Amino acid sequence: MKKLKRLLKRLFWLSLLVVVSIVVFNTSIYHSRQISVESITPYAIPEAVMQRLSDVVQITTVSYPGRIDTSAFRTFASYLDSQYVLVDSFLEKEVINDFSLVYKWPGKNPRLEPILLIGHIDVVPVERESWSQWTHPPYSGEISDGHVWGRGTLDDKVSILGVLEAFELLLAEGYQPERTVYLACGHDEEVGGQQGAKAIARQFEQRKLNFAFVLDEGMIVLNDALPGLPKPVALIGTAEKGYTTLELSVQMSDGGHSSMPPSETTIGILSRAVHNLETHPFPAEISGPTKELFRYTGPEMTLPMKAVFANLWLTEGLIRRQLSTNPTTNAVLRTTIAPTIIEGGLKENVLPTSARATVNFRIAPGQTVNSVIEYVNEVVDDERVSVQVKPGAFASEPSKISATDAFGFKALEQTAREIFPEAIVAPSLVIVATDSRHYESVAQQVYRFMPVRIDKADTKRIHGIDERISFENYRSMIRFYRQLILNSCK
Ligand SMILES: [Zn+2]
Repeated sequence: MKKLKRLLKRLFWLSLLVVVSIVVFNTSIYHSRQISVESITPYAIPEAVMQRLSDVVQITTVSYPGRIDTSAFRTFASYLDSQYVLVDSFLEKEVINDFSLVYKWPGKNPRLEPILLIGHIDVVPVERESWSQWTHPPYSGEISDGHVWGRGTLDDKVSILGVLEAFELLLAEGYQPERTVYLACGHDEEVGGQQGAKAIARQFEQRKLNFAFVLDEGMIVLNDALPGLPKPVALIGTAEKGYTTLELSVQMSDGGHSSMPPSETTIGILSRAVHNLETHPFPAEISGPTKELFRYTGPEMTLPMKAVFANLWLTEGLIRRQLSTNPTTNAVLRTTIAPTIIEGGLKENVLPTSARATVNFRIAPGQTVNSVIEYVNEVVDDERVSVQVKPGAFASEPSKISATDAFGFKALEQTAREIFPEAIVAPSLVIVATDSRHYESVAQQVYRFMPVRIDKADTKRIHGIDERISFENYRSMIRFYRQLILNSCK
């Protein structure tokens, strides 16, 4: 007995030693994936760019659910023509569906695949009641405290103007790209992009255009992206989650009087279905772009965290559990389930014959709308609950995953390292829907990245209160687009 105990003890220490050795070894060979670039002197950006951004914030190109404020879009387009005179004279401009704009800057070498930069002109509305909470009115375009304030300064007029400023600067230098550069500006991204981006993409398809890569908004340079990571991360979205909304409904031929309720009611059955979904989330997975994110950020972390990410074979379960506790990180691990509307019943003493719940799903790469429906039926496990897809402008399957070894990613990686030398670069998953999903048919590689560096807390300003951009950020953004064109169009 004593011998056996001693043997077991030895075995324990031996296996611990093996595990520790593997952990140490893996951590020691967990090398940085960051490319080194030569430092460049920040390009001088004229002060007038701030005023132009301020001016377009004041043009209220708002998308309301189901409609847009049309006259503002015409003002926006003519403002651009009047301000970007070199763009206006050297680039070809086309208007799609009255308000969307496509610019083409012909390259010297037509045999090279063009690149496509995209942005959107429309902004989300600001509820009247929340105006008082803004430091400066949302459409004032106020320039103060080193910032331009208002709707569109982060999402997404700033991208369009940033690119146009870069074009204008390069044109003034007498530059002509080898590769053709397109800028496509949709006018209805915030309501699904059906009239804008989707229609533009269809035009491109008909012309048999194929882009070397597409760049849209989506991710940013985040200061405090992950625990244990002391550096900011330029997160380049290589994929985007899918989107579907399901309606769960329960019908009963007889409702009845609330004085004699049956053992089960439509509301009770529906509530159980919703509860089952909330308590049975989709399984968490560290795969696809999320796995890539950790492959790129892990080696840059402080030692204990570096050891954790270098040894996913041992720590993956722990990481999954930890990340699942935070809604932001949870969203990159799995398909999410969000019940958003529940309806049923008209009168306090009448049992309703029907009840409905609307549940929104953001679908992780690797799953499909159909696999979500299957999962929902399995979890709800009640034939009385019917599950229907609610059609909508945002509905889509998850995007393809764009490559990190492709020309486009490399150009973005290099440019991000040059313009944000303090930051590291990492691929990542975009959890919201962007216009870029409409362009998948015209490009193998679609990336989502807006070159602004902000804190996590500042991301609330997007679609929120006090949306603003600092002068420094806007300058970096223009430098980034200029440099990206130089890097990818030579
Ligand atoms: Zn946007």
